[in-house]
Amino acid sequence: MTSTEQAVETFDSLDPTTDEVVGTYPVHGPDAVAAAVGRARGAAEWWASLGFAGRAERLRRWKGVIVRRMAELCDVVSAETGKPKGDAQLEVVLAVEHIEWAARNARKVLGPKRRPSGLLLANQAATVEYQPLGVVGVIGPWNYPVFTPLGSVAYALAAGNAVVFKPSEYTPGVGAWLVRAFEEVVPERPVLQLVTGFGATGAALVRSDVDKIAFTGSAATGKKIMAAAAERLTPVVIEAGGKDPLLVDADADLDAAVDAAVWGAFSNAGQTCVGVERVYVHTAVYDEFVAKLTERARQVRPGEHYGPMTMRSQLDVVRRHIADALARGGRALVGGADAVGERYVRPTVLVDVPEDSAAVREETFGPTITVTRVSDMDEAVEKANDSTYGLGSTVFSRRRGMELARRLRTGMTAINAPLSFAGVAALPFGGVGESGFGRIHGPEGLREFARPKAITRQRYRMPLVMTTFARTPKTDELVRRLVTVLHGRR
Ligand code: NAD
Repeated sequence: MTSTEQAVETFDSLDPTTDEVVGTYPVHGPDAVAAAVGRARGAAEWWASLGFAGRAERLRRWKGVIVRRMAELCDVVSAETGKPKGDAQLEVVLAVEHIEWAARNARKVLGPKRRPSGLLLANQAATVEYQPLGVVGVIGPWNYPVFTPLGSVAYALAAGNAVVFKPSEYTPGVGAWLVRAFEEVVPERPVLQLVTGFGATGAALVRSDVDKIAFTGSAATGKKIMAAAAERLTPVVIEAGGKDPLLVDADADLDAAVDAAVWGAFSNAGQTCVGVERVYVHTAVYDEFVAKLTERARQVRPGEHYGPMTMRSQLDVVRRHIADALARGGRALVGGADAVGERYVRPTVLVDVPEDSAAVREETFGPTITVTRVSDMDEAVEKANDSTYGLGSTVFSRRRGMELARRLRTGMTAINAPLSFAGVAALPFGGVGESGFGRIHGPEGLREFARPKAITRQRYRMPLVMTTFARTPKTDELVRRLVTVLHGRR
């Protein structure tokens, strides 16, 4: 940054466990953001010119740096989010798998491919290839500050784009660490840059000269981003929130289902986009499931199994959802109204909560779970699908797993294990409805950051030339007969 555009304003990143300042970062305004995007444009051309193999080699070196200094990165993640080091390591490990997958598969997914050209244009060689978009702006959340943004960053880089990354104001240090590690392996040009600040910095990135915005965060912010991006017709991929259901069938392995519900609901203090927030249980096993869940939930301890709420304001949302559920006839079998403390929230299991209450309809993003009895799995599917969100879902069933999974209106479903779809790098990740659209991860995630380029090359002249003013009535008649033979017989 030059002296004239030096950001004077700064903000502090705090450790949510202690409120200690763990870093101070500039608040980048529109000029600084535009300058970063300008630099990225120059870098993008050079990065694209390295080709798939050249980029893969750099991405693999980046991956190596991350793995060798994983403990250091986990310390930063832990300090800024409050999550236990083991959980920080889990997200780093999964992110590394994604970097490797994107590096290894970019050529296969995006490289030139022949397509059939059809009988009428049999003389044309038809190919498609996926070219980089140019500069991609990535706006990230704080809950998984490595795994979540890298799901866009790594795939955008592998596809040949430069990236300007705006991490959450709660986790700027993690963003800075990742970008510095990348600069070590790509020192030549600013292929991956960092801009820091609050929502306004993200908004400036959306209004800048980027070729695409990849946003991960709340649905409310996603809507603002889409509206702003519409001004320049900048395409967006929106990875927003969820209200993920878990279905338990009468023949399910109940211990496994309970374990998945407990992990899905309480890990990371429930601050997981694909966390389990609602459970629908077949009446035949409801009582047994609830008894086992209650016992297991009582063993989960905040401060040991998960950290504090990273964002203090979320405490009010969690408190409101629990209060609303209890006021409308719900019962807390574990936790309850007094579970929400100054920083930590104790696990809360709610039953008999009406389907139209906030705890069932809105994203809670805390360590709470509602459990509802259903008479059969049709009712479970109906209730699960009655949501404005549709991100992930989980099904526990011995016989009907695939059938139930297909009927759930969500982008991803895990059968008989919690959240497993997020760890499979080859699978697309994304939502339905207010959970957003577009996909990260897998081949779909690579294509999200590339533009299909169609090319036809004439190999020889056809006797029947249709696209010329020299076309004769005889040609028209021949074409008519040919099309009738090809398509007009029934
Ligand atoms: P958020 O929407 O408050 O913020 C996300 C990012 O957007 C931050 O970097 C923020 O500074 C920026 N931002 C805020 N206002 C902006 C604006 N007007 N223009 C541009 N950028 C703006 O979300 P959060 O609290 O950081 O994250 C939690 C949410 O993210 C939850 O809803 C969670 O479910 C969701 N999430 C989704 C996924 C997914 O993959 N679908 C993954 C993780 C988290």
